[in-house]
Amino acid sequence: MRKRVGIMGGTFDPIHIGHLILGESAYQQFELHKVLFMPSGNPPHKKNREGRASNEERIEMVRRAIASNQHFELSLEEMHEQGYNYTRETLERLTMLYPDTDYYFIMGADSLLNFETWKDPQEICRLCVIVAAVRDCMPMHQLDEQIARLNEKYCADIRKLETPNLDISSHVIRNWVAEGKSCRYYVPKDVLAYIEERKIYRNLPPDMCESE
Ligand code: ATP
Ligand code: MG
Repeated sequence: MRKRVGIMGGTFDPIHIGHLILGESAYQQFELHKVLFMPSGNPPHKKNREGRASNEERIEMVRRAIASNQHFELSLEEMHEQGYNYTRETLERLTMLYPDTDYYFIMGADSLLNFETWKDPQEICRLCVIVAAVRDCMPMHQLDEQIARLNEKYCADIRKLETPNLDISSHVIRNWVAEGKSCRYYVPKDVLAYIEERKIYRNLPPDMCESE
């Protein structure tokens, strides 16, 4: 029997309930064997990382957030010394290593909307099932239309994750921490304790501090 493994990729800066609920819902809806939480590498030259969590801190936050869930697993597949990895390459590597596994790549609607700007969308569609969740109060019909269009264009297997709109983002959490507002319940408590302990996001540069 083939294995079904979910991939929840992200910057996780920090990880929040949106990511965790997506992983859990995909696990259940698609009867997955497990879900890999895969923090993406962040090469210093690519992004302004001022005031943000380091790679090690992002990894530790993911580790803490998923510790109590037996079918969640941390994967450092996209964490390399040299920084960045493309999804296509990651999927190619995994499918070579584990040919008896079907991968379910989980993402929010914002990611699906800009999916065609990703490197090699056609190849990504060949290598995995994509699972997309509604986000940012996007009308459901808009997500449905995008799924139908991409399925047709790339002969893809994109499916909708049955989750409610989870109105939260890492961006908002970072701002709340910087402003001293409570993020309780939006972020697992062990992660919040770590953010506090390491004083992460306390000093965001002012231009990154405005609300979305
Ligand atoms: P940031 O605000 O820094 O962009 P984020 O909240 O979007 O952070 P990411 O790490 O960028 O989190 O997201 C990883 C994946 O999880 C993306 O595919 C994104 O669409 C999805 N995602 C994150 N939060 C949600 C949410 N609340 N609802 C649905 N999908 C989400
Ligand atoms: Mg994002």
